[in-house]
Amino acid sequence: MSYQSDFSRQQFLGDDSERILRETRVTIVGLGGGGSHIAQQLAHLGVGHIRLIDPQRIDASNLNRLIGATAQDVEQETPKVEIAQRLIKGIRPWVKVEMAQSEWQAAASLIKDTHVLFGCVDGYMQRSYLEAAARRYCLPYIDIGMDVTKLEERHYAVAGQMIVSLPGRPCMRCLGFLTQQRLDQEEDDYGDAGINPQVVWTNGTLASLAVGAFVRLVCPWAPFKYDYEWLELDGNSQQVTSSRQPDYMPKHPCTHYNQCDVGDPFFRWKTI
Ligand SMILES: [Zn+2]
Repeated sequence: MSYQSDFSRQQFLGDDSERILRETRVTIVGLGGGGSHIAQQLAHLGVGHIRLIDPQRIDASNLNRLIGATAQDVEQETPKVEIAQRLIKGIRPWVKVEMAQSEWQAAASLIKDTHVLFGCVDGYMQRSYLEAAARRYCLPYIDIGMDVTKLEERHYAVAGQMIVSLPGRPCMRCLGFLTQQRLDQEEDDYGDAGINPQVVWTNGTLASLAVGAFVRLVCPWAPFKYDYEWLELDGNSQQVTSSRQPDYMPKHPCTHYNQCDVGDPFFRWKTI
């Protein structure tokens, strides 16, 4: 089998889109509920180089949403990156898959020269660090995440976001998504966060929005003309809207990341 498989149904993405996608390098950090959906969609699209980073192995609580996972994987505690690799190769065996079963900070070689970085990580702090790395390497960064908040007895609000953060453009702090208050709160709650609720369809919706943003970034079909994108998903009413939050933020060039601060970042390792 070769990459000359039939892409006729997505030719509208652009005359050259098949080659572009085949030559594009993409890195996904976090291969859980969101990342596994993205991996699957990138394989279907025909992205030729997919890098996978996640330190975790599957457990039974992941099976409600981890695309490609099986009951046998749970028994064998298969690493999540291996499940994603198998999923991708099953769809398009010619895709070059590289993976690291480690924290992303220890797999910089899979991030540095990628074309687009997807972040599917938990917590504001992790997002902040990953966006900083993306800025260092001048990479477009696409972030997804979801949250469940208890409203009253037996009622919950399900929400999520998809944010595109581009080098030299407003970052997630400029946009008002990453606030010091949120980062501080998370630090205070650390270790007491309990179960992180996730469901397959919300993960799938957010992953699809992220892949849609990616295709607009790399293919001629509908060029990505924005400085950023922040879409909010209201999981209860099932509506996706552009966030209004950036409208209330000061408008000036990003002061959080200096465009001269590029190259290998310095990580402060916590030693135990
Ligand atoms: Zn900024």
